[in-house]
Amino acid sequence: MNAAMKTTRQLDAALRIVHTLRAEGYEAYLAGGCVRDLLLGREPKDYDVATSATPDVVLDKFERTFAVGAHFGVVLVAEGDGDEYLTTEVATFRSDGAYSDGRHPDAVRYTLSAEEDVQRRDVTINGLLLDALRAADFLGDGGKLRAAVIDHVGGLVDLEAGIVRAIGRAELRFEEDHLRMLRGVRFAARFGFELEAGTRRAMQALAGRIHAVSRERVRDELTRMLTEGHARRAFELLDETGLLAEVLPEIAKMKGVEQPGQFHPEGDVWTHTLMLLEQLEAGCSMTLAWGALLHDVGKPPTFRRAPDRIRFDGHVEVGVAMGGEICRRFRFSNDETRQTLALIENHMRFADAERMKASTLKRFFRLERFEEHLALHKMDCMASAGKLDHWEFVRERWQTMPEETVRPRPLITGRELIAAGYAPGAAFKEILRTVEDAQLEGAIATEEEAMRLVRERFAGK
Ligand code: ATP
Ligand code: MG
Repeated sequence: MNAAMKTTRQLDAALRIVHTLRAEGYEAYLAGGCVRDLLLGREPKDYDVATSATPDVVLDKFERTFAVGAHFGVVLVAEGDGDEYLTTEVATFRSDGAYSDGRHPDAVRYTLSAEEDVQRRDVTINGLLLDALRAADFLGDGGKLRAAVIDHVGGLVDLEAGIVRAIGRAELRFEEDHLRMLRGVRFAARFGFELEAGTRRAMQALAGRIHAVSRERVRDELTRMLTEGHARRAFELLDETGLLAEVLPEIAKMKGVEQPGQFHPEGDVWTHTLMLLEQLEAGCSMTLAWGALLHDVGKPPTFRRAPDRIRFDGHVEVGVAMGGEICRRFRFSNDETRQTLALIENHMRFADAERMKASTLKRFFRLERFEEHLALHKMDCMASAGKLDHWEFVRERWQTMPEETVRPRPLITGRELIAAGYAPGAAFKEILRTVEDAQLEGAIATEEEAMRLVRERFAGK
């Protein structure tokens, strides 16, 4: 099933649910992100339904249901099987009680009022309802669609003017749930919208509160910002709102850190990093995105004005250590951490590629997901002088070198060493590495040659 068919089926499923609930006398609308996306002419990821029917009614009216967020009045209605399987979120109109922890409402209360329901949503463009029955064939017909929108929050005007504005008093809304600040930035970046002045001021005033939100949730928001295709704008907004200095102070410190003009005509480390972020495409891998963000994180603390020029001696090693701390802080998985750090660690090696010994180059190519290293290096070049010679050299060699040349079958293993009378132990690793180096260099190609080399070099072991 292709993506377009999938969203048509999702829409049909949501419409059937609306019909069923309406036929029973309840109010039911499409709500939130899907209405916003339809009005913008974008394809919604999913279609959510908001209704006056309580969860027990929803559970009763539909055959296959899951009370996933029963606590928040959310029921999943399922249909189809296998590839055709899909679920629709049906949420009962509710108003949230007090938030004493800055994360979750202490209690929620169901309500019959759609207006009350939208008041608890985050930003006005996310607070729109669509009367789907009044817009039967609304897809693609903007005017008709607009007439069927129920707007209690001024979201339509904001959507047309390109504004992200908190619903109600911004400070109160961000005090309730601090994550909304990051969501607001993310939506502004994604749609190329402006933050409304009061909303921005509230973020500036409350940015420090973001620490009450779990690191995982902050990480997920940042990752979405980095991988939705508008990372530069997102990070500029994070900076302007003061959120950057709270969640990633190491990146905020890049501002004003000068670089040597002959290598970096673009300007300081922050400008350079933004120029990499600008190149991150929608849907790029999270490790490439974080690698791009962090590749020069070691520069601010290693900045030095040497007699000849500005230098950042050791910025790679320092960057790997700082990157490791950031991955830990944000609870990256082991695999995500390994790859993010590998990207930082290897980002300066491309300049040496032409001079690398064959064995070194082949080992370089063995880096996991080497294509991400290539992509990062290209972005790094494009974000400064724009010279791609090293990138072209490495890419050409990497694409044309057969796998069996990069990773040939070992000529010997520990077994042959033992058979030749060597005592198993720590020295084996060094011996086998020496043999493999010679093999990768093309100096030896058979088991006999390998054993001769071993006897020559490691006679006493
Ligand atoms: P996306 O396209 O990123 O999924 P979305 O608008 O659908 O955007 P969701 O996170 O799926 O966002 O949430 C669905 C809706 O729930 C939002 O449109 C908004 O109305 C409401 N919502 C989500 N999170 C919050 C929050 N933290 N505070 C208030 N309302 C929220
Ligand atoms: Mg959504």
